[in-house]
Amino acid sequence: MGIATTNPATGEVERTFDALAEKEIDERLERAREAFERHRAVPVAERAARMEAAADVLEREADRIAAVMTTEMGKTIKAARAEAHKCAKACRFYARNGERFMADRPADAAAVDADRAWIRYLPLGPVLAVMPWNFPLWQVIRFAAPALVAGNAGLLKHASNVPQTALFLEELFRRAGFVEDAFQTLLIGSDQVERVVRDPRVRAATLTGSEPAGRAVGGAAGAEIKPSVLELGGSDPFVVMPSADIARAAEVAATSRCLNNGQSCISAKRFIVHADVYDEFEGRFVERMRAQRVGDPMEESTDIGPLASERGRADVESQVADALGAGATALCGGERPGGPGWFYPPTVIIGVTPGMRMFHEEVFGPVASLFRVSGIAEAIELANATGFGLGANAWTRDPDERERFANDLDAGQVFVNGMVTSYPELPFGGVKRSGYGRELSEHGMHSFCNTKTIWTG
Ligand code: NDP
Repeated sequence: MGIATTNPATGEVERTFDALAEKEIDERLERAREAFERHRAVPVAERAARMEAAADVLEREADRIAAVMTTEMGKTIKAARAEAHKCAKACRFYARNGERFMADRPADAAAVDADRAWIRYLPLGPVLAVMPWNFPLWQVIRFAAPALVAGNAGLLKHASNVPQTALFLEELFRRAGFVEDAFQTLLIGSDQVERVVRDPRVRAATLTGSEPAGRAVGGAAGAEIKPSVLELGGSDPFVVMPSADIARAAEVAATSRCLNNGQSCISAKRFIVHADVYDEFEGRFVERMRAQRVGDPMEESTDIGPLASERGRADVESQVADALGAGATALCGGERPGGPGWFYPPTVIIGVTPGMRMFHEEVFGPVASLFRVSGIAEAIELANATGFGLGANAWTRDPDERERFANDLDAGQVFVNGMVTSYPELPFGGVKRSGYGRELSEHGMHSFCNTKTIWTG
């Protein structure tokens, strides 16, 4: 399937779009280059005011864009609406802090034999963002809000199954009053991405998605000596120690695993529980997973809608079949329901071992693996026994254990007694095969800046 809206709740193709021709791509890149020159000349305070206007549009039209997202990729309508409001918050965060983040930073002039010396943050130019369908608004805003306020131009290559959300984003920034073409959506297939990354008018790239996609975009950017930020998959651990509030941990565990119908890079996916509290946790967790209401994502009462694509569900099914075939056990779920749509039930699996795919791969659906460990050393070893390093959750009331988790869990973010999530105020990103670079906070803004040293004698 090319670029199209296909409703995952029914499997029906609702709209198709043509990919841009080579000549159209070239025209748009030229427009991005020109728009950048005009956009960078607008004072930061004015760019920030436009981002505030984008937040207003997102809030006013949250219901409309939420329905588009639900239709295109199956997230529940309540989650989609919450995503639109979260995006508005991020826009306001950069609108209100952008000037401060972009302000000159004085350096110690005497130490560098200068009359004056300082650091100035300047935009780079047009930046290509290759984005996934799972949070089709948020993943883009997380890049676009800081990048546009910094003065860069944005080029969006969105996932091929969310074209209407992609077009809404282009319209959003135009309506907010940004310079014409400061943010453009390129309706192109993944086979046209490398050519855009390599175009000299494009100065940097960012990608959120799978490892192969990250390798392709990061590789092309590296070959052209262009900076890139990669936010790839995750298989986040969720460690529960005896001092934790077990009831609360089990509740948050189910929420985290089922977030976005189980398709979030920072969903907890591997639950690692101390033997002293294992039985209690298992009972409560399975109960919580079973209680999730799977159904029509447009219904307000639904907790879990369909997976975004037929291929995505087939991947989850084959990972589960691999584990069950090799001796693991499903405590709940594990079988797809009949009927139309790409639904998959909340599933908890025990007995997952290193020979099984689920042990090493990201499972992009509401499937949890549950492990019993005898102490903190074993918990940390198992938590780190993955190629990923995006987020990690730890539950304990013991201050020494908290410090150990903070230091030794090999991840870009560790949340203690809470669920890994992203905030505009905090840097977000991974280590190991979860990627590199940081988004959000002032770090995210500076990812696409020229950190320029200025020295005057
Ligand atoms: P992809 O990584 O394939 O898609 C993400 C984006 O990258 C899309 O815009 C896609 O375009 C583009 N893309 C894909 N391949 C290339 C390539 N070779 N060169 C340039 N751009 C490319 O995600 P999928 O939808 O296929 O999901 C597969 C798996 O990826 C999931 O099961 C999950 O494990 C992981 N994933 C992780 C996400 C995260 O948040 N970290 C988000 C989404 C997926 P197009 O749609 O046109 O192919």
